[in-house]
Amino acid sequence: MQTVKKFYYDVVICGGGPAGAAAAIAAGRAGKRAILLELRESLGGLCTNGYITGIAGVVNGICEEWVDRLAAEGHAVKRPHLPTVEPEYGKQMLEEMVLQSGTRILYGTHVVECIKEDNTIRSVIAYCKSGKIEIEGKVFIDATGDADLALAADVPTECGNAEFCGLNQSVTMGFRLAYVNMKKYNEANAAWRKDPEFDNNDPKKRSLIVYKEHKAYQEGRLHDILSPGNIVYPMAGRDETCMDVTLDATHTFDCHNTDVEDLTRQIVDQHRKVIWFHNFLKSDVPGFEDSTLEAYAPMNGIRDSRRIVGEYVLKDTDIGAAKKFPDGVVQHTEFYDSHIPTPGFHTAHRHIHADKPIENAVCRPTQDTEDYMYNPLVRPLAWEVRTDPRNYCEIPFRSLIATGVDNLMAVGRCFSAEYHANGSIRVIGPSMGMGQAAGYGASLFIDQKLGALRDLDGSQVRRMMIENGVPLDEPPGGHWKEIREFKGEPVVSASDMCVLVDKKGRTMR
Ligand SMILES: Cc1cc2nc3c(=O)[nH]c(=O)nc-3n(C[C@H](O)[C@H](O)[C@H](O)COP(=O)(O)OP(=O)(O)OC[C@H]3O[C@@H](n4cnc5c(N)ncnc54)[C@H](O)[C@@H]3O)c2cc1C
Repeated sequence: MQTVKKFYYDVVICGGGPAGAAAAIAAGRAGKRAILLELRESLGGLCTNGYITGIAGVVNGICEEWVDRLAAEGHAVKRPHLPTVEPEYGKQMLEEMVLQSGTRILYGTHVVECIKEDNTIRSVIAYCKSGKIEIEGKVFIDATGDADLALAADVPTECGNAEFCGLNQSVTMGFRLAYVNMKKYNEANAAWRKDPEFDNNDPKKRSLIVYKEHKAYQEGRLHDILSPGNIVYPMAGRDETCMDVTLDATHTFDCHNTDVEDLTRQIVDQHRKVIWFHNFLKSDVPGFEDSTLEAYAPMNGIRDSRRIVGEYVLKDTDIGAAKKFPDGVVQHTEFYDSHIPTPGFHTAHRHIHADKPIENAVCRPTQDTEDYMYNPLVRPLAWEVRTDPRNYCEIPFRSLIATGVDNLMAVGRCFSAEYHANGSIRVIGPSMGMGQAAGYGASLFIDQKLGALRDLDGSQVRRMMIENGVPLDEPPGGHWKEIREFKGEPVVSASDMCVLVDKKGRTMR
């Protein structure tokens, strides 16, 4: 096919999810001619189009500005942890922020190929309604979530969990319900916590939905345990007795997230399971009786796929060890959260194993020795390692830089990390932080006329983040500061993560 159009920019960002949108805004604000290529027709990726509306991780910088701007208009719920954004307004606000930064957007544009000279990408090739187009650039940012551009550029990538023979994390499609009485649901939930049956230490009984799900399963009314744990995200700006909510609650297992046939199987499976789950909610869970299925998320809930091999591969143990780096550009506070690839009762790996305790992590002798769910191919190592909620690790700028190519970065869920490190960091707050850092990194790279991104001093990117209001020179504030100041002892919770429990039995994570 002939190339029908050519574009010339300094910074070319492929993929307009949370990471790509933040990169586009940062590059534009840094004064660079930038273009954002997005295959769909709106921005925000899994957060908006996947209905994953609750933002985990540290929320600062461009991410915080986005939430604040939405909250000012009544379209985000600001709270100390997991603020939520209304997805439709979220898309529009990101679009406004990108365009205001001076960065141009092309929608309906699928990046598939690139043209390289030696180790430098000269241009990307994309297909769109116009036909085949070529976009030249000085520096490229892969924010496709799946490292599509890195793959095209022959950058080495990893995919899936070696202990599960390369399977990816389970897949969950988000969905949106209308006419939910959240007041009634919250009251029922509160009453459930006082019910003698309630047991915070029994995963089957610690949440009303999960408890009822198990009952429905035992009674043969539900085919499967669809949601070993789930969160109902209320949308902003609605009456609490009759509102929209988004949920991600149903799992498909044994997934290969870069195989088109398997991706199709997952979508069909998710469509069916969402109907089952919604029918169960209507019949069994107070507050959902009159709800209707408003929409399946337009984007399937892929948690992980390809990860680039970068200049630094962030190790699984770096998260537990709360490792800091001179070129640390993002702070990360959350627990290990790799959703288990195969069916079973537990939702996610919330600890990893090591042969000896790791400094700064919360470690205990392993209790998984008889349970091969954690390491099906090898016996689990002697120590269970969990993140300490009072500490945090950093993502070094080098983990965004692709190896083997001089002018490519990857941000968001395809950045360079081992499987469990990625499983923890892939969430929206850090993804936007990585995007912001890559936008600044691209700008510095161009200004300094460097030959290769690996020659850029990442501590300068860190400094630029700080100068632009991202407080990397101090530990995370707000919710995370409250946790640090909470007087409690680390305990392994029923959800398998480390929480702090005080003398009165109150819990904090
Ligand atoms: C079920 C589920 C639950 C989750 N729960 C939470 C949660 O509660 N809180 C939280 O913070 N995070 C959560 N996450 C993680 C989070 O949503 C993602 O990791 C995050 O959105 C990653 O952002 P990203 O920009 O890297 O990728 P994505 O959000 O996947 O965005 C990638 C973008 O690139 C575009 N694109 C892809 N390929 C191409 C191409 N070749 N050319 C052009 N454009 C392309 C896509 O259309 C998309 O817009 C969850 C994820 C899932 C699946």
